[in-house]
Amino acid sequence: MAYQSINPNTGKLLKTHDHLTSAQLEKSLAKAESCFQQWRHTSYPERAAIVNKAALLMAAHIDDFAKLATLEMGKRIDEARAEVKFSSDILAYYAKHGEAFLQPTKLHPTDGTAHMESTPFGVLLCVEPWNFPFYQLARIAGPHLMAGNTVVVKHASCVPQCAIAFEKLLIDAGAPVGAYTNLLISHEQAFQVIDDPRIKGVALTGSVDAGRSIAARAGQNLKKSSMELGGSDAFIVLEDADLDKVIPWAVWGRMYNAGQTCCAAKRFIAVESIADEFLARFKQALETLKPGDPMDEKTTHGPLSTEDALLQLLKQVDTAVAKGATLLMGGKRIDRPGSFMQITILSDIQPDNPAFRDEFFGPVVSFYRVKDEAAAIALANDSDFGLGGSVWTKDEARGKRVASAVDTGMMFINNLNWSDAELPFGGIKNSGYGRELGNMGIQEFVNKKLVRMGHFPAPL
Ligand code: NAP
Repeated sequence: MAYQSINPNTGKLLKTHDHLTSAQLEKSLAKAESCFQQWRHTSYPERAAIVNKAALLMAAHIDDFAKLATLEMGKRIDEARAEVKFSSDILAYYAKHGEAFLQPTKLHPTDGTAHMESTPFGVLLCVEPWNFPFYQLARIAGPHLMAGNTVVVKHASCVPQCAIAFEKLLIDAGAPVGAYTNLLISHEQAFQVIDDPRIKGVALTGSVDAGRSIAARAGQNLKKSSMELGGSDAFIVLEDADLDKVIPWAVWGRMYNAGQTCCAAKRFIAVESIADEFLARFKQALETLKPGDPMDEKTTHGPLSTEDALLQLLKQVDTAVAKGATLLMGGKRIDRPGSFMQITILSDIQPDNPAFRDEFFGPVVSFYRVKDEAAAIALANDSDFGLGGSVWTKDEARGKRVASAVDTGMMFINNLNWSDAELPFGGIKNSGYGRELGNMGIQEFVNKKLVRMGHFPAPL
C-alpha cells in the first residue's frame, strides 16, 4: 500500500504518495553513497553548522511542523509543539557536543601508546515510527550526521508529509543532497535496501514484529543494527507515595500522546494498602479528559493515529475481557468521527491472559494490586519487555532500591521525565538493544578503531 496521509480526527484522506520506483530508489542510494564519500571528510564544525541551522529553522517554524504532526497522526497540538521544540533541541545538542563525543580516547597498554579513533560507518538505513514523527527523526539525524554518516530514512507510511518536511528542513539548512534522504518505500524495498552493500548499518524504532524482521535481515547481512522497540512499563505505587503528586503523573504517563508512547506507563502496580485510593483517584482524574479535535488547544483526549490502530486496540481489549479481565472503565470506540478510543481500565489480568504480556498502544490502563514492594518488583519484572518504568514513594532510598531491582533500560523515581537530549534512551529484552540520544547514541554507528604506536623488539 502506498503512503497515505489521513486525518485521524476526521478519517479524511489528505494525500497519497506512491512508493519509489526501483530506478528512483537506486538513484537515492547512489546519491547517499557518493555524498558519504564527501561528507565523511567534512570537519565537525562544517557538519555542526548545518545541523545547528536545521535546529534553528525548526525552532523558527514550530507551528508549521506541529500542525503537520497533528494533521497526520492526531497528536494534540500543544504536545506536537513541544515535540518539535525538543527535536530542535536534540539537533542543537549534537551540533554542540558531537565533536567532543567522538574525540580519540587514550589507552594505556603495557608498552608504547594506543588510542581509539571513531570513524563513520557509511550510509545507514533508519526505519522510524509515526508516534513521534519529528523527534524520532531528530534522534537519528543529529548524531549520525555529526558522526559523518549519511542516512536514508524509511518513515512510517501514515506520516509522509512529516517525513518530507524533515528532509526539506535538512536541505534548507544546507545539507548536501544525499546526506539525509527520505525514502517512501515498501517493506520489501526496505529489505532490498538492507541487502544493498552500500548500506552499512540499520536502526529501527518500532514494534517487536518489525524489530524481529528487520534485525534478522540485518543479521543475515552481518550489518550492525540497533533496535528501539515496544514496552509495557510498570508504574509502581508504594504505600508511602504522595497521591497528590502521583495522580497527575499517572494520567500524563498513560495519556500523553493518546497513550501511544513506547515508554508510557502501561501497567499500574499498586501496593494493597494504597491500591483502592489510588485506583479511585486515578479513574476520577481520567474521567475529566475530554475527546476533541487535536488541533484545538482545549482538547485533552485526542484520537489514535489511524483507524487500524484503533481496531487493533479494541480487539486487544475485547480479548482481554473474554479471557477474564474486568473492565472498570471504557472499552469501546467513541461515537464520533475519527479514530477515538474511550479511556479504558482493565483489572484482574491473570498471567494466562494475553493482556498480561502484550503492549497496549493507546489509552488503556492495566491495573494490578500486589501485597508489598517485593511483589511489585516481581510483577514489574514478569514481562517480556524491558524499556522503562517508574516507582513512586516518599522515601528516596527506597525508590533507588526498587529502581535498581527492576530489569529495564530506564527507571524513573517520582517522575516520568522520559527524555532529554543528554540521556541515553533504550531498553533490554523485547524492548530491543542499543541506545539513542546522549553520548551513547552517537557511538552506535561509528567504527571504534584501535591505533597502537611504539617501537617494540622484533618478534623472534
Ligand atoms: P511498526 O508498525 O513496527 O512501524 C515502525 C516502522 O517500521 C514503520 O516505518 C513501518 O513501516 C516499519 N515496518 C514495520 N514492519 C516492517 C517490515 N517488516 N519491514 C520494513 N519496515 C517495517 O510500529 P508502529 O506501530 O509504527 O510504532 C509503534 C511501536 O513502536 C510500538 O511498539 C512502540 O512501543 C514502538 N516505539 C519504540 C520506541 C523506542 O524508542 N523504544 C519509540 C517509539 C515507538 P510502515 O508504516 O510502512 O508499516
